[in-house]
Amino acid sequence: MSAPKPPAEGHVTNFIRHRIDDDLAAGKYARRTWAGAPGDAATQAGTPGDPAKIRTRFPPEPNGYLHFGHAKSICLNFGLARDYGGVCHMRFDDTNPEKEEQEYVDSILDSVHWLGFGWEGFGVNHQYFASDYFDILYRFAELFIENGLAYVDSQSAEELKLARGSFTEAGKESPYRNRAPAENLALFREMRDGKHAERTHVLRLKIDMASPNINMRDPAIYRIRHAEHHRTGAKWCVYPLYDYTHCISDALENITHSICTLEFQDHRPLYDWVLAKLAEFGQLQVPLPQQIEFARLQLTYVVLSKRKLIRLVKEGHVSGWDDPRMPTLVGARRRGYTPAGFRLFAERIGVAKADSLIDYSTLEECMREDLNETAPRRVAVLDPLKLIIDNYPAGQQEESRMPNHPQKPELGERIVPFSGELWIEREDFMEAPSKGYFRLFPGNKVRLRHGFVVECIGCDKDAAGNVTAVHCNYFADSKSGTPGSDNYKVKGNIHWVSAKHAYAAEVRLYDRLFKVPHPGGRREGDPEDLERDFVEDINPDSVKVITAQVEPALKDAKAEEMFQFERHGYFVADRIDSQPGAPKFNRAVSMKDSWAPPKK
Ligand code: ATP
Ligand code: MG
Repeated sequence: MSAPKPPAEGHVTNFIRHRIDDDLAAGKYARRTWAGAPGDAATQAGTPGDPAKIRTRFPPEPNGYLHFGHAKSICLNFGLARDYGGVCHMRFDDTNPEKEEQEYVDSILDSVHWLGFGWEGFGVNHQYFASDYFDILYRFAELFIENGLAYVDSQSAEELKLARGSFTEAGKESPYRNRAPAENLALFREMRDGKHAERTHVLRLKIDMASPNINMRDPAIYRIRHAEHHRTGAKWCVYPLYDYTHCISDALENITHSICTLEFQDHRPLYDWVLAKLAEFGQLQVPLPQQIEFARLQLTYVVLSKRKLIRLVKEGHVSGWDDPRMPTLVGARRRGYTPAGFRLFAERIGVAKADSLIDYSTLEECMREDLNETAPRRVAVLDPLKLIIDNYPAGQQEESRMPNHPQKPELGERIVPFSGELWIEREDFMEAPSKGYFRLFPGNKVRLRHGFVVECIGCDKDAAGNVTAVHCNYFADSKSGTPGSDNYKVKGNIHWVSAKHAYAAEVRLYDRLFKVPHPGGRREGDPEDLERDFVEDINPDSVKVITAQVEPALKDAKAEEMFQFERHGYFVADRIDSQPGAPKFNRAVSMKDSWAPPKK
């Protein structure tokens, strides 16, 4: 799939940008004030006008590492805030005490920074936790109870489920629906104080059990959990649920545009209902935030759900969350994918209201485009074969100059040692050449890139008939860049590394983690693509570790430095396994899109 390229300047506009443009033109949010911190109407009242033209937020649950889908949401939310003179809040949606950990919080912050975004704005660090609002959320819940708009339901989980109804069938009102507010309040306080076991009661909003929208059928907003929370410890025995927490957090933070994925579209009436009631009670500043939905990123050849990613790690299919084959941002970083490549990708795929599937090659192409601009060129021989120059004076060596970037002279050049024994790619020699082969074969001349022209005179073989070395003679007056070197006309041009100067580097060649575009099956419209466990679709050959012979300068590559290894693709010095003076390299992406499914 190829999306249209964005114009050189500015952005492809989209329905979210249109909405923001309209709101700004109408001055919709201009009268909001901002106390410098989130808070209810009383907190915000009488404070200065909000300096942020818009406020968006990125609200991950800290229960896993961020994946490529999150990158789309991050680029969108932080990108809009940046472009419109606003700010994007970094908010952890941490209402689920069992699953959340500090390790995830730290990694998420790191990944957002790595993508090039920050949450400082107008002198404030906008990093928040939904758990910061537990007191306010609790107070609002009591307010709903006192106003007859929430009740404690004591049905079992099974009964609650049955009474919810279906798409075609209305729900059934709970026998507890008409409990008196005073009784509800007393029970809810007991729940808070830990007097009731888990799953014995829930607090529900009293909306409409006959609503065609199941989300409006008296949704539960609090449940009992006797669990330690990563930030509030044992303070709470009741925890608010997502739909209730999210909209209120948005309102407290003065969020203007709350952008989320399409599956929340049916939750929007609830989002609006909760906020409208609280505004009626005078608890929230108006105008209220608005929820806008967009299509989540779906990408071929990967899985983008935390549940599945956790399985890959737990079952040992990969080395960890940051395995370079993982579609996580920590994995991508190790792999050598770049922040600018992700931003380009987000821009190029755009945002839409309908689901669409993006081909993995689109992401790779964005990485290539970025790396082509920025990565200096180096020489690496991945499948080394000795080339011996028989007529090169023994013990002699000299220098060759190589440009760091063929299109960017400003990036300068480097000096690479040349000698009588070189490493070349095994595929650059054929004893019996096939038709159209212009590289080394007996009697043929090629240019050693940025070096001399040589003529092949034969090869050595071992007992099994494998070629162990190639012999040639060089032409001393053919050196690139010297007068007269143009007199030699050859068709082949091969790369090389001086054997005695080379650094033997571990190089990992990564391939796609899954061998089919739809891991787990069920490709839309394809009855043959049967549903199966996605783990069965793992590509058994997704990494190959080799020892390459690379030019000496690469020995000093620093962790995370990126290079183009000429003819081979883009490589990064691994940030975890490299030692000073002993880098190991990961292939981020090959030079061209040449992916083919592994052979059966
Ligand atoms: P997962 O489905 O992997 O568990 P999630 O939606 O539960 O993801 P959250 O931590 O709740 O993950 O998500 C944080 C934000 O990232 C949300 O606003 C969510 O809409 C967005 N997001 C998650 N997955 C995608 C995706 N594939 N494309 C775009 N945005 C996404
Ligand atoms: Mg989620």
